[in-house]
Amino acid sequence: MSGRRHSMTTTQKHRVVVVGGGFAGLQVVRGLRREPVEVTLIDRQNFTLFQPLVYQVATGALSPAEVAVPQRSLLRRQSNARVLLAEVVGFDLDARQVSIEPRAGDPRRSTVDYDTLVVAGGAHYSYFGHEEWQAHAPELKSLDGALEIRSRILSAFEAAELTDDDRLRQEWLTFVVVGGGPTGVEMAGQIAELGHDALRRDFRRVDTDRTQVLLVEASNRLLPSFPPTLSAKAKRALEQLGVTPLVGHTVVDVDDTGVAIRRPDAANERVGTRTAVWAAGVAASDLAGELAHEARLDTDRAGRIPVQPDLTLCSHPEVFAIGDMARVQAAGADAPLPGLAPVAIQEGRYVARAIRARLAHRRPRPFRYRDKGNLATIGRSRAVAEIKGVKLAGFVAWTIWLLVHVFYLAGFQNRLLVVLRWTASFLTRGRGARLIVPTQAASLPAQVTLERRDAA
Ligand SMILES: Cc1cc2nc3c(=O)[nH]c(=O)nc-3n(C[C@H](O)[C@H](O)[C@H](O)COP(=O)(O)OP(=O)(O)OC[C@H]3O[C@@H](n4cnc5c(N)ncnc54)[C@H](O)[C@@H]3O)c2cc1C
Repeated sequence: MSGRRHSMTTTQKHRVVVVGGGFAGLQVVRGLRREPVEVTLIDRQNFTLFQPLVYQVATGALSPAEVAVPQRSLLRRQSNARVLLAEVVGFDLDARQVSIEPRAGDPRRSTVDYDTLVVAGGAHYSYFGHEEWQAHAPELKSLDGALEIRSRILSAFEAAELTDDDRLRQEWLTFVVVGGGPTGVEMAGQIAELGHDALRRDFRRVDTDRTQVLLVEASNRLLPSFPPTLSAKAKRALEQLGVTPLVGHTVVDVDDTGVAIRRPDAANERVGTRTAVWAAGVAASDLAGELAHEARLDTDRAGRIPVQPDLTLCSHPEVFAIGDMARVQAAGADAPLPGLAPVAIQEGRYVARAIRARLAHRRPRPFRYRDKGNLATIGRSRAVAEIKGVKLAGFVAWTIWLLVHVFYLAGFQNRLLVVLRWTASFLTRGRGARLIVPTQAASLPAQVTLERRDAA
């Protein structure tokens, strides 16, 4: 590690370093706001992203700034916290140092010392060993990914308008969403609404009602984390929107002109499409592997690092790992906790309490997750919800989904903006953020550029 060090002050306050300012990390920082500690939040992006609404950016319903809040503004009033815009590239658990590469200015590596370390680096999409598919089927986890998808979806409608070839037109109007979990379901529903509703009057030559959306899910039902009755309701609601759910189907290849799908009878079928979206399996952040290597622990198949009941690493009580990158399994539970925002939020709040307890020389109790339910939206006025065993579908579930998401959206200004935007979209059936921004328009497929020249 380099000899350059970042320190906040020269006082002897307890130094808490939090890596990752997402759902989990931010709760730790905020939960320590009244404590006599020095908190350093390190994130490679300068904003906290509200991932549950990223798909609305990808479909032009919301703008990036409505689902992301600068961490500096979130922590403006918290004088014991500072933010470093840097990529964490390693840990030295013996020396109690985090190694960072700044994302602005001098790019040389340096270190940050800690007394307590909290690592909450989240997860990324896994292409199941086929990273080459990513170029043809972008993921929906980051803001970059969402903007890329938005550009591709909107460009596909433009290309369909420009072409004279009917077969090609149908390929442009065919969209394949891979993964039938909540994100895939939400994404498929939104694309169908775009084609069959929001865009219908905007084009002259192409009939956007010919939009075909295929939702491919390898298991035998959509929304596998929901009860089967709600999966069935979600499937029906999607079909009403014009989505074709393909359950028991597996994507076996993706390229720039189509997707190969294995059917339940093991035969392969090729679907001609220019727009595929990846919303399938996730893997833990690489930081989990880095940390596990340092602590001599093994990660699980999803790359998550195992933690103790108090969310610390075995033999390193000063290091916590939380959120999507940690494997937390309660005693007697069949499976580890899922990668969900409420899990990450509760873990973050717990860690702040645990640090406070330790500073007061008390022993923190083990972490306990309180399951508040599961929600997925399908489209306008359609959603499914399971809350404490009660199963809901349709408008009531959709209203609950709406209230919950607005409630959890970080930053009051964003809440207000999102409510206004949703109200406008609901009344007008429009999508206000349908921009193909210049940098992405440059990546408009060659076919479109050629045809436009021909047309001229
Ligand atoms: C498209 C999508 C939709 C979702 N919808 C829902 C939903 O409807 N309901 C629900 O409950 N959950 C949903 N989730 C899951 C939920 O968003 C996650 O469970 C939650 O974000 C996990 O929080 P986290 O703090 O562990 O990670 P994140 O929120 O991902 O935060 C991780 C942070 O770590 C930073 N980071 C990562 N690596 C480094 C590094 N090396 N150096 C510095 N910083 C780093 C990142 O920049 C990021 O800010 C969804 C997820 C996605 C992707």
